[in-house]
Amino acid sequence: MEERVLREISRLNTFPAYVYDLPGLSEHAARIRADFPHEIFYAAKANPDPEILLALRPHVDGFEVASGGELDHVHRTVPGARLAFGGPGKTDEELALAVRLGVERVHVESVRELPRLSGADVLLRANLPFGVEGAALAMSGPFGMDEPELRRCLSLLPPDVRFRGLHAHLASGLDVEDLLKIHCQVLEWAAEFAPEEVNLGGGMAVDYGDPLWRFDWKAYAEGIPDVPFRLRIEPGRAMTAHHGWYVTDVLDVKQTRGETYAILRGGTHHLRTPVTKGHDQPFTVLGDGGRSGTATLVGQLCTPKDVFASRVPVRNLAPGSVVAFDMAGAYAWNISHHDFLMHPKPAFHYVT
Ligand SMILES: *Cc1c(COP(=O)(O)O)cnc(C)c1O
Repeated sequence: MEERVLREISRLNTFPAYVYDLPGLSEHAARIRADFPHEIFYAAKANPDPEILLALRPHVDGFEVASGGELDHVHRTVPGARLAFGGPGKTDEELALAVRLGVERVHVESVRELPRLSGADVLLRANLPFGVEGAALAMSGPFGMDEPELRRCLSLLPPDVRFRGLHAHLASGLDVEDLLKIHCQVLEWAAEFAPEEVNLGGGMAVDYGDPLWRFDWKAYAEGIPDVPFRLRIEPGRAMTAHHGWYVTDVLDVKQTRGETYAILRGGTHHLRTPVTKGHDQPFTVLGDGGRSGTATLVGQLCTPKDVFASRVPVRNLAPGSVVAFDMAGAYAWNISHHDFLMHPKPAFHYVT
């Protein structure tokens, strides 16, 4: 953890809190920008916090939004930014908003969207049978279209809807080698359509078992073949995951039925990531004194699912200890069920 983050955490006097490291995020995004020569749109759904969007803005080409709510929010927060709007099940109101705001690209997921996209520039989203074992989240499901349906879109394209190219976001949580396997297949497939551009989606890995591990953007960029069309990616998690912490204090440490539990203020209604991903959220205990050994870190919710980390080695854990959960900068606060049990919400702090 950077000194500036530790300093901010040591100044906190109410818990729980989220701490975001904006200089760290800017540096990280600038490095990605330097290593990756194609267009980068940040997938806002990973973390749409306004300060995060503003910190990323100088380092990305635009933002990808996946709902009318995100579209409205990002448009207001970073006025003038280039926007792409995707997602299944777009409503009349959402499509009208996209047209009215003149978003740069609409990612079309169904032939039914076309008649409502007068004047729009579109990418057709493909659901392709390419994959690799080990993808954390294969995007199989109602996303995009099979090739025949995609060709039907092309034949039914209204005259004032401009086909710009193709979109494919096929899996999440992949390292360089696996991502390239998929992306090379996508690019080869896409060439037949003579697109102006192809959006390869997001899905770059992070490692919740190793907070210091980083996706190798340079190796990824070097592995992408030369193609005669513009390329764009839209990463979310690997941009912001490492620059947020959920920080709280220990209310109680107790043993029951042979297990040691540390009960923390707050819970997975603030940081749902470990439950949804099925991992132990990495953490640091600040301060000294207290017990060492093995413990399960839980929150205040009355459900056995409220677990941050299960039977993990701990040091210096006691009531009053401060615990900072790492990698809480993406799919953390904004995917959590905040109102369950009506506990107070965390405060948000920004290292600047
Ligand atoms: C969620 C999503 C992304 C971002 O995925 P990450 O795994 O966070 O990089 C990009 N594109 C689409 C269409 C998505 O649904």
